[in-house]
Amino acid sequence: MKYIIASNWKANFTLQEAIDWFEKVTSYIEKLHSSNIRVIAAVPYPYIHHLSTNFTTLDVFSQNISHVEGGAYTGEVTISMLKSINFKGSIVGHSERRHIFNETNEIINKKILLLQKNSLESILCVGETLDERKQGRTKQTIQQQISEALRGVTNFELITIAYEPVWAIGTGIPIDINDLIEMEKFIREFVLREYNWQAKILYGGSVDKGFIREIIQKTTLDGALIGSASWNPFNFIDIIGNL
Ligand code: PEP
Repeated sequence: MKYIIASNWKANFTLQEAIDWFEKVTSYIEKLHSSNIRVIAAVPYPYIHHLSTNFTTLDVFSQNISHVEGGAYTGEVTISMLKSINFKGSIVGHSERRHIFNETNEIINKKILLLQKNSLESILCVGETLDERKQGRTKQTIQQQISEALRGVTNFELITIAYEPVWAIGTGIPIDINDLIEMEKFIREFVLREYNWQAKILYGGSVDKGFIREIIQKTTLDGALIGSASWNPFNFIDIIGNL
């Protein structure tokens, strides 16, 4: 089984810090000689070119992508721009994009379709808010986010789902492992029934080196999407070492 460990840098790092992080993590991964781990770094746009050109051990993703292909859309970063600087894919629908920048499932669907059209990978983030969980609407929310984001998609090979409960992101408190086991089962069964798809599924939300062990031991998830605990390269290396 190949584990996917993805680091989401969010809006952090200078170019020099980005290079230092890559040097440290790359040299660790190269010494590991493990074909069981795929490490992804979702980095800010300005660093993609430098990092993907100079380091090939990790896969460089963007954290977002425009839903338009080009034109009079000041400030947008389009798929053709990203393709021209060499990247593997993008996170799509991260909860910070949904909740701070009001991204809808419809916009997220446009992004996924653009990535598909260009044979690039998507990590589709889905997750319920605390209110939705308290109201017993977790599964309904996740089902709706997945089905609306994947409308019109016919090839699922390049898509990975990241289940990231909004209330667990950046709080230092991950989901209870039994709740995670239940959500993994729910998502797996839903996408199998709906699309005949055996999806790769990651968990995200306050993963640290202790929780990664629990994930590996107690679930059949394919890996994790990690924010804050991955920003210090030595912490991130410790997490990978605990797989
Ligand atoms: C994230 O931003 O996707 C994330 C999971 O963050 P954190 O690990 O900090 O909760």
